[in-house]
Amino acid sequence: MDSMLREGIGVSPGVAIGTALVVERGVGEVPELTLAPSASAAEMARLDAAIERVRRELLDVEQLAGREVGEGIAQIFDAQKMILDDHGFLNPIRAQINDDLRNAEWAVQVVGAELQARFARIDDAYLRARGADIETLTTHLLRVLLGQSASRLDSLGEPVIVVAYDMSPAQTATLDRDHVLGFVTDAGGRTSHTAIMARALEIPAIVGMHDATEHVHTGDRVILDGADGRLIVHPDKATEREYRHRRDAYREREAELASQREHEAVTPDGHTITLHANLESAHEIEAARRHGAAGVGLFRSEFLYLRADGRLPDEERHFKEYRAVLEAVAATAPVTIRTMDLGGDKNLPDALGGEHDSLLGLRGIRRSLGDGSLFEPQVRGLLRASAYGNLRIVLPFITEAAEVVAARQRIGDIADDLRAAGEAVADDIPIGAMLEVPAATMIVEHLADHVDFFSVGTNDLIQYLLAVDRTNDAVAHLYEPLHPGVLRVLDGIATTARERSVPLSLCGEVAADPLTAMVLLGLGFDELSMTPGSIPVIRNLVRGLPMSEARLIASHALTLPGAREVEEFALSQLMAHFPGGFLVAG
Ligand code: PEP
Ligand code: MG
Repeated sequence: MDSMLREGIGVSPGVAIGTALVVERGVGEVPELTLAPSASAAEMARLDAAIERVRRELLDVEQLAGREVGEGIAQIFDAQKMILDDHGFLNPIRAQINDDLRNAEWAVQVVGAELQARFARIDDAYLRARGADIETLTTHLLRVLLGQSASRLDSLGEPVIVVAYDMSPAQTATLDRDHVLGFVTDAGGRTSHTAIMARALEIPAIVGMHDATEHVHTGDRVILDGADGRLIVHPDKATEREYRHRRDAYREREAELASQREHEAVTPDGHTITLHANLESAHEIEAARRHGAAGVGLFRSEFLYLRADGRLPDEERHFKEYRAVLEAVAATAPVTIRTMDLGGDKNLPDALGGEHDSLLGLRGIRRSLGDGSLFEPQVRGLLRASAYGNLRIVLPFITEAAEVVAARQRIGDIADDLRAAGEAVADDIPIGAMLEVPAATMIVEHLADHVDFFSVGTNDLIQYLLAVDRTNDAVAHLYEPLHPGVLRVLDGIATTARERSVPLSLCGEVAADPLTAMVLLGLGFDELSMTPGSIPVIRNLVRGLPMSEARLIASHALTLPGAREVEEFALSQLMAHFPGGFLVAG
């Protein structure tokens, strides 16, 4: 068979070679059969067995998700379990089998579709979101009844490369890591949450391939390169040999870099760079430690909110999660926890209206300040946890100083209440602002009066500066971190923060890309936070690049007219400084 090359967006590095498993979006055609009256009891038993199997599978997935990512994400499956016990769902299915003598799969399909249509018409966003749970559960039940359970991705029998239209962060989090060698999706962009999750789990991945599910078939031999976004279908022997070599070389380099985790991130001319980890849950602390992170630069608290049962995390849930992170890192290492940043591309939990929100809507601090019942339990949990380590709090989506002032006031009031009630709360907890809204980056000197540190969120900042939706694969090629406009904004932030002596960190995904990181170092960003797995590569970059050189590179980059010119220039510099490849240990 002819070999075929497809290209997408490489979002998680590593080479995977193996057999494709294409995940169907639906279950295909469902047969409609009329049963003999004597067969309906057996059909009912078949339905009951399928329901039991789905229930067991949901429990397994939930436990797996709990172990891998944390309780927050595991609760996504609660709503589906509830539907399995719901008479409003089960009785009409049983009636179709018993009274109308229909086969179980037909009955499930008809009733599922009717319920989804009814829910889609409801005004209330929370109830409307239940329609999606019904769809997921109906598909699961149909797969079991039709014997198509192979597309479960959490317990696979053999190693595969998964090819899917899209994968939710929850599906990514529960992938069977012993058998999923890598994955490719048609949808998605570089900084989508699914991509971030793939990097956190260190699974090679490509997103935004548009038509992978059309061109690849289950059983096809494929090679996936998660660094450059290439997928080779039916590779010839020579290509496969070459990629095996690349895969082995990549693993060796990774192991070599990991073994250097004790090495300090100091440039050859003596500038110390702080490398921190971005985490989604307390479970990822181990990866941060393994890769030698000096602390946690960003803890995204959003996953605590992804409960499909409609309940929001209470104070105790917040407290336990944050305390676990603080206790797991060395007592002096900073742990920067971000208050809730739901909205935008981060789907809202059902209790907050469900599913999609506008990119320009009630995100992050806007929602927290507008709804004390949301902010207060989180802040109380954070402040109580502060007694267990070195906590820093960062506020997302800040647009102006008044928001920081209001948030600090509330945090201060809550701290007073807790202390009055005899709770231990650390003194002088640093409170910082994310710089990710363009207008905020233009008033850094005013914000500086009210914050203890800044953290630049380039994932959003670039999205809003370039007007490129970070999750939309149709515009992913326009998402240019090295656009001179972006560099000028970053330069302005670094200069003002330095003048005002406000500590500055950067926690967007670009910190993990050696090409961009080289320019960031030269612009004066000396604290970078990233997916733990990327730390060794960036440490190696720091150890091989004199700061004096990085500064020259950054100043020249600032004079160039376009993203392409900056990229070409930066690449030539990177190759000149690391002729053997930047992954080679220096
Ligand atoms: C960012 O916007 O760069 C960031 C770090 O936060 P998130 O990706 O969670 O929006
Ligand atoms: Mg952000």
